[in-house]
Amino acid sequence: MVIIKAEQAIYSFAPDNKPVATVKAGEVAVFETKDCFSNQIQSSEQLFESADWSAINPATGPLGVEGAREGDTLVVDILDIETADFGVMTAVADMGAIPNLLDGSETKIVPIKNGWAEFSSKLKLPVKPMVGVIGTAPKVETIPCGTPGTHGGNMDTKEIRRGTRLYLPVWQEGALLAVGDLHALQADGEVLFCGIEVAGRVTVKVDILKEKTLPTPILETEDHFYIIGSAGDLDEAAKVVMEWTHAFLKERLPLSKNEVGMLMSLVCDLQISQVVDPLLTCRMAIPKAAFSPFQLSFGG
Ligand code: CA
Ligand code: CA
Repeated sequence: MVIIKAEQAIYSFAPDNKPVATVKAGEVAVFETKDCFSNQIQSSEQLFESADWSAINPATGPLGVEGAREGDTLVVDILDIETADFGVMTAVADMGAIPNLLDGSETKIVPIKNGWAEFSSKLKLPVKPMVGVIGTAPKVETIPCGTPGTHGGNMDTKEIRRGTRLYLPVWQEGALLAVGDLHALQADGEVLFCGIEVAGRVTVKVDILKEKTLPTPILETEDHFYIIGSAGDLDEAAKVVMEWTHAFLKERLPLSKNEVGMLMSLVCDLQISQVVDPLLTCRMAIPKAAFSPFQLSFGG
């Protein structure tokens, strides 16, 4: 099995990135990942401001997938997410969505034991490990790993967890998948600007849907499809996910445009993934059960 070490990191999703390892469709690969600070912050004495900014937001990879070409869709099954035994949170005086509510910069080291994050001696929270950064090489642009987009990237979407399947667009030969920025726990919004940032390992199985183009990342869980979109503000991000959701449902269901719109308004929750990255990310949740008479599926 291919194991990619955390030292094999990129800081941008770029069209001309070179694969550090290659697998065939249907094979499994492991990405060992540093946290979003490149593991530079190891104690509560170290503030975010002391970290080397050029090393922020690494993603491990990229992994090449044999046979993936522009116009295909990459299917990524997230088989497992393992985290280190502690994570890091940083309050930063001038970052995130709520700096005015804070009392200066602070670092908190959060021990993780037996599935619980020890926020304080009094407060333990159950972990829900997720992948913050996962994406493919874009068609033209070079996009820093801290920015989300139609290639995936820093989507900070809490539903990207073990047992889910992510569909990503392919623009470059081999797709060039990279993974990083694990969170032991993060709420919708990620308002402080971080979750419990943690190093770890992500095990994935990759596959290719040939000549199946995708406008944006789509996540499939046991119960839902999530159409994920990012833009400069929440209004625009919401608009793009609504448009893509309408197109996704219209293509797959024997319903009129108006009926699809009605059903979106009835059963598809518009949700916020994060409001703290260079672009903001929304998602629309499509509950499979609501469409059960039609056996809604992504389709091969
Ligand atoms: Ca992130
Ligand atoms: Ca993060």
